[in-house]
Amino acid sequence: MLSKSEIIEILNTNEKNEEIFTLADKVRHDNVGDEVHLRGLIEFSNICKRQCMYCGLRSENKAISRYRIDEDEIIRYAQKASDMGYKTIVLQSGEDEYFSSDKIIRIIEEIKKLDVAITLSIGERSYNEYKAFKEAGADRYLIRIETTDKNLYSKMHPNMSIENRFRCIEYIKELGYEVGTGCLVGLPEQSIESLANDILYFKSIEADMVGIGPFISHPQTPLCHSNNGDFWLALKVMALTRLILPNINIPATTAMETLNPNGRIIALKSGANVVMPNVTSTEYRAKYEIYPNKICINENPTQCRGCIEAKIKSIGRHISQDKGQSLHFTNK
Ligand code: SAH
Repeated sequence: MLSKSEIIEILNTNEKNEEIFTLADKVRHDNVGDEVHLRGLIEFSNICKRQCMYCGLRSENKAISRYRIDEDEIIRYAQKASDMGYKTIVLQSGEDEYFSSDKIIRIIEEIKKLDVAITLSIGERSYNEYKAFKEAGADRYLIRIETTDKNLYSKMHPNMSIENRFRCIEYIKELGYEVGTGCLVGLPEQSIESLANDILYFKSIEADMVGIGPFISHPQTPLCHSNNGDFWLALKVMALTRLILPNINIPATTAMETLNPNGRIIALKSGANVVMPNVTSTEYRAKYEIYPNKICINENPTQCRGCIEAKIKSIGRHISQDKGQSLHFTNK
């Protein structure tokens, strides 16, 4: 276990980077093995009621063309993903109230018939909704804390509260979901100390999955003039998370690949063991523009799967054939 001051020291210098990445790779190998779990990601609506300062889906962005994939089409995408071999379907969207509990429940129940694990990533809902989704068959919930710095959180998320975000994560844990959380690295005014606190927070809640990505400046947001986060710093936060939570699932995030053409492979060699390829068709990909220059927006699901499989095999890793439950969760 690393102390907060040790984490800060590592984050503050680049001298130990190689050592940390190599160690995280070994800890990954020893604890979760060489399998890479693929998750089929369905970004089903880019309509959002929130105003997160960094996100291109924020309601005030009038420049993006909004879409919503209807229930039957979502289910068809899940079916196709399952046919392609995906054992986990991730349903992600903006906070779109059109998708009432009843609609989400129906989608979960239909997708569950495919014998896949379901991860929801649809933001803040009430305890009763989270409970109903779990009862309908959802297995995992992904909701990043984004930052544990209270001040920064409130600047980045107008009309939202960090207390409620923490509460949502507690509810999800209490309800028996596999808990996925994470943070952004490189937000304006984000301190190194707060990143250390983020890592310690993941440990304190015993998260089962942690996704970490660099902040990428979006031209149609108030942060349009801010610098992007640093790829290597984001990678280091990820690697340290692996050291502190050795048997969780850690995705090589798409945002990492957006800042570095080999970002996901570098991440897989520095502690990550999960990749989340997009399984929707080209028409929706570009529109789910949380940040600009997203990768693979011109590819279809078959191309994406083929491309990432080849990359994974090229580094001597294999694609998992099971649902890829977090061992941290299994062994509880
Ligand atoms: N509405 C859902 C899903 C959000 S999108 C929710 O609230 O959980 C998924 C993630 O994209 C967010 O958690 C955020 O960390 C990330 N993201 C959003 N805008 C970004 C940006 N400009 N750069 C990098 N990551 C971003």
